[in-house]
Amino acid sequence: MGNAGTPLVAVLGGGQLGRMLAIAGLPLGLRFRFLDPTADAPASALGPLVVGELGDHEALTAVAEDAVAVTYEWEGVPAEAARFLEARGSRVHPPPRALDAAQDRLAEKTLFRRLGIDTPEFAVVDDRAGLDRAEGTIGLPAVLKTRRGGYDGKGQRVIRGAGDLDPAWAALGGVPLILERLVPFDRELSVLAVRGRSGDTAHWPLVENEHRDGILRVSRAPAPGTDAALERLAADYSERLLDELAYVGVIAIELFQVGDDLLANELAPRVHNSGHWTIEGAATSQFENHVRAVAGWPLGDTAARGVSGMVNCIGALPDPAPVLAIRGAHLHDYGKAPRPGRKVGHVTVVAPSPEARDDALARLAALIE
Ligand code: AMP
Repeated sequence: MGNAGTPLVAVLGGGQLGRMLAIAGLPLGLRFRFLDPTADAPASALGPLVVGELGDHEALTAVAEDAVAVTYEWEGVPAEAARFLEARGSRVHPPPRALDAAQDRLAEKTLFRRLGIDTPEFAVVDDRAGLDRAEGTIGLPAVLKTRRGGYDGKGQRVIRGAGDLDPAWAALGGVPLILERLVPFDRELSVLAVRGRSGDTAHWPLVENEHRDGILRVSRAPAPGTDAALERLAADYSERLLDELAYVGVIAIELFQVGDDLLANELAPRVHNSGHWTIEGAATSQFENHVRAVAGWPLGDTAARGVSGMVNCIGALPDPAPVLAIRGAHLHDYGKAPRPGRKVGHVTVVAPSPEARDDALARLAALIE
């Protein structure tokens, strides 16, 4: 591409998040280069793609060449890969420490606790006897989770009674685990926040999230029925994490609401599915603010514009015409081949009132599987 003067951002991962980062960043005068193992990765429509493994030093060197900043769109990027690029002089945002925390549930929950961020009770499980000990301290019901490699509800088993201990161990034992108290939460929320290079922070309104089969289906934002105290608590949590990690970019924290309390379940050191509504539903989207942050530019206003709902398209996309016939609806096709369980797109509705938003979501539910 013959535009050598244009600042280039390198993105580790070329999925839909990378694609939407580029869609937000191109109008700001940035260009993007991606690293992904698959040649037809969704982001490849938006910029050159280096095809390679995310831990491959040669591929990492190629994607980062001449980049003003390197970022990532997947929390599974090996922290070592991010450190390799830092050691070679690249500016890597968010910091590799955020990957360390996000990739190990014990490190993550220990960090939350150290920063005064409430979490479900948890205990380390390294062997079968350790599971009994953990059950003794945590009590039942509980959920046994692999420390590494779990996402979208994978790598976990709920233990309701003593009879579930052996089957859960048989399913997951052999790798480092944690046992967590199964929280009878009122609902699941998330908070998205951003920190710029100069240390300025901003956060979007709390989001309410509905999952099905461990996958996010619907988000509502601003989350219905929150008050200023709950918003303040979520903002405090995110600010503590952002400052502790000297973070640059967007972070998401998944939360369980229990009464007036918020328990942190996990963090994502990247733009997040529960923030897709911000593209049309906020003054500045999570994608634009992420690229502003990594490029070292001022952050944009994170206020909501109207009342938003977001529906994920899992497995297949709906017919566009009836979706677009719904007032306030915006369709996002990630350019991925349909496959069961795969996130292939999403629809956001922005409405003038919660009632109009919920009415539009009901109409969308009839169109989206
Ligand atoms: P995770 O992979 O940790 O995001 O968990 C996937 C889903 O499992 C969450 O979105 C919750 O719905 C549920 N879950 C995970 N941990 C707990 C817990 N400690 N208590 C209650 N539900 C949980």
